[in-house]
Amino acid sequence: MSLYNRAAEILEKLERKEGSVKNLVYSSRDQNIKQLYALVCETLKYSSVLESIITSTNLLKEEKKLKMNLAKVLVYDLLFGKGLKCGGVWKVIIMRHKSRLKSSLAMMKVKQKVSRNEDLLCSEPQAFEDLTLPRYVRVNTLRTNMDDVMDSFRRDGYTYLGKASSLEDLRHLSGKQFICDLHVPELLVFPPKTDLHSHFLYTAGHIILQDKASCLPAYLLSPPVGSHVIDACAAPGNKTSHLAAILKNKGKLYAFDLDMKRVVTMSTLLLRAGVTCHELANQDFLKTDPNNPKYRNVKHILLDPSCSGSGIVSRLNQLTDDKASSSSERLQALSGFQRKALSHALCFPTVERVVYSTCSVHTEENEDVVRDALKEHGDQFRLVNLLPEWPHRGLETFPTGSYCLRASCKTTLTNGFFVALFERKSVESKNYKRSCSEETNIKLTSPRKCTIKLKKRLKRNTVNPVKQSCNDGIDTKSPSAKSCILKLKKKKRRKQNPIVHVKKE
Ligand code: SAM
Repeated sequence: MSLYNRAAEILEKLERKEGSVKNLVYSSRDQNIKQLYALVCETLKYSSVLESIITSTNLLKEEKKLKMNLAKVLVYDLLFGKGLKCGGVWKVIIMRHKSRLKSSLAMMKVKQKVSRNEDLLCSEPQAFEDLTLPRYVRVNTLRTNMDDVMDSFRRDGYTYLGKASSLEDLRHLSGKQFICDLHVPELLVFPPKTDLHSHFLYTAGHIILQDKASCLPAYLLSPPVGSHVIDACAAPGNKTSHLAAILKNKGKLYAFDLDMKRVVTMSTLLLRAGVTCHELANQDFLKTDPNNPKYRNVKHILLDPSCSGSGIVSRLNQLTDDKASSSSERLQALSGFQRKALSHALCFPTVERVVYSTCSVHTEENEDVVRDALKEHGDQFRLVNLLPEWPHRGLETFPTGSYCLRASCKTTLTNGFFVALFERKSVESKNYKRSCSEETNIKLTSPRKCTIKLKKRLKRNTVNPVKQSCNDGIDTKSPSAKSCILKLKKKKRRKQNPIVHVKKE
């Protein structure tokens, strides 16, 4: 059987969900596994382009014995691959239609105003969503600041469009434009496919290429500068370096991971990012002793445990490994670990806030885990109603399910993600900044509302929490609540006359 027939057979098995690409290719025991694997993957990548070409040229109608999957593999190799090498009778048949197939491809490119074959992929947002997600760039404030990074991009010919006011602003980025994200601070957004992997800001650790959804856990946990934090399942460390930036490298960041190789990689990444406040351990988080005096000041825990990864947007993954990543035994095993880890985090006697996140779309790993944790620890912890303006909420499989956040490429222009934030009931009123941001959705975007709230608190003689929130919010030491209000007013004036870097435009 020719390579093309074998590849077509695998595509058929995939459609019948008989396994993942890898499994099917390897179990075929083909002599040329690598070539077969590459051909199947590439055909899948171009699948809908190939289907349009085959349909528009009436290929299957004219060649009755030819089936769609075999036609796709052959047309792929003819138009996008190395040209038909083998294929016997099928090669002869396809070559008869060569010029029509080629002109159909050329017409498609003209119609879609693209010159390269690869560009046809991104004109198909439904099929290739991975290529249409914006490129998110977190500015690493341990190494640099927003102004310097934005200036640097401007010097590279990029145009700064200001702060986004809606997701639509992110959706419409094109060419060499960039914008500030509307939800996560210090996050810049570039058009899809912007490749910054070799940019010096990236190689020097000044920027971190991190999906927006994955910035949510550290941002929402928001530990005050100088506090003690645990990152329970930390490698490769993107969220750890984000936490360190929020902590301004002050305080202590205990980071654990079970996988030695990942710990080694993480160590390099943290070094590049300029993180110094961490203590990294190749250790099972479940075996950490919550009563160890070392952790007596830990009030914040970030738990981002191993998950199915089903939210990571990739057309190829969806077509190939979905079955493997979401088999019920695997989900059961993962959610078993996730439950244990969340329950363990909530057992730390001094912990006040625990953020739980996954890059999974499965309820079993998300709402179900949170619901069970609330059943067990609900007398002491409640869920925080996160970012009310966030469009995609957790499923209401339990009463406060919608307090959690979900994310997806369609609703939030990110990878699929889930976040829940637990807060100890006794500390609910202590931290003003958080109640501002998460319960009333005003954060520091509306200093006027914050000021009113602060004044109310002053009347209630809750000066310390006010100072605390002020310090958290604007990162300056505030001698009194009155000066805190002044600072917020100043911040408001600055907001009305937006940030220095906008003026420079
Ligand atoms: N938070 C990381 C980041 O943002 O870069 C990603 C974490 S990844 C989703 C999950 C990690 O949990 C893996 O690196 C895995 O090795 C680690 N892990 C799994 N079981 C663990 C355990 N019992 N204790 C500590 N780490 C564990």
